[in-house]
Amino acid sequence: MGLFESVALRTVQRGIRRLSGEKIPTIAGHKLLYTCNLRCGMCPFWRRPDEYLLSLEEEKKMLSALEDFGISFMGFEGGEPFLRKDLPEILDYSHSRFHTSIVTNGWLLKERLNSVKENLDYVFVSIDGIGKTHDRLRGREGSFQRAVEGVKAASEFLPVSFNTTITAENSDEVGAIVNLARDLGVSVSFQVAHDYSSAEKKSPSDIKLKEAIASLLEMKKNGAPIVESREYFEAVANSWYNGVSWKCKPWLTLNVDPQGRLVLPCYVLKEYEGSGKVWETDLRKTWKSVEWGLYESCNKCALSCYLEPSLFSWGKPHMVKERIVDSMLSYLRS
Ligand code: SF4
Ligand code: SF4
Repeated sequence: MGLFESVALRTVQRGIRRLSGEKIPTIAGHKLLYTCNLRCGMCPFWRRPDEYLLSLEEEKKMLSALEDFGISFMGFEGGEPFLRKDLPEILDYSHSRFHTSIVTNGWLLKERLNSVKENLDYVFVSIDGIGKTHDRLRGREGSFQRAVEGVKAASEFLPVSFNTTITAENSDEVGAIVNLARDLGVSVSFQVAHDYSSAEKKSPSDIKLKEAIASLLEMKKNGAPIVESREYFEAVANSWYNGVSWKCKPWLTLNVDPQGRLVLPCYVLKEYEGSGKVWETDLRKTWKSVEWGLYESCNKCALSCYLEPSLFSWGKPHMVKERIVDSMLSYLRS
């Protein structure tokens, strides 16, 4: 069976299992390591020592377990994933099973691109501002230029999106970031900075965030290449400013820490302390044992890897097009 067929088959199987009320995740995210070559103020991860990383064989065991559980979309992040020398082999194994994406700060993207481009479906490159704003937020001079060079190189072969975290220091630059993405022929995905307990507090003020969301929503309606749905921005604004909450479904996204452990119920509430190794865990039983209903009313973060799947509806044709059809088309093209 080809890749597309097996991913599509898992989608159908998940759908059937969900008909009986079973909660099955669609997406998995895996932090390959915490180590990073940048020093972003709002990030807790580079501050943590990597005591142990999975071997290539363990990475494969983990990915096979996720395939058996029914995952279709696999996203790798860090730390900085390109600091792992075995990244090409990990992506090769993943790409024969899942729609595979990566989040990178872009520093090493151009020079390592040839070793990974055949095994990726989508690349997210962190861009947090224009020029010096980005360098200041990312804690390293030259990081903006390296990231943009990486975007230009990768976008010749792959769908690429900026990954932008809205903070107190860049909320006025969201329009300029969208324009840069448009000029480079790529998309842009926005996250609102979440204030982790072990990182600097960087989230924007209520008023600045409200303005940024309104402006992004307007740009989205006018066709700007913004990855998040209209519903995403509306849900955040409605919840945080009008008291109308969205129903969070963190069970749709499974997260694995650098030691191969599940992070439950989500990585914001757990802040990445994992539990059992994925391949030594009965994932179906574990998923059934979590009281997911406790988290439905939690609207603490607006991380799109949780919020977008929570908002998805087959009854909204533009969401089906953006989330399913476009992903499948990029998968088929790669
Ligand atoms: S590039 Fe990513 S992992 Fe590295 S410090 Fe910044 S946010 Fe953290
Ligand atoms: S809104 Fe709450 S439950 Fe949902 S992903 Fe964020 S922190 Fe977790």
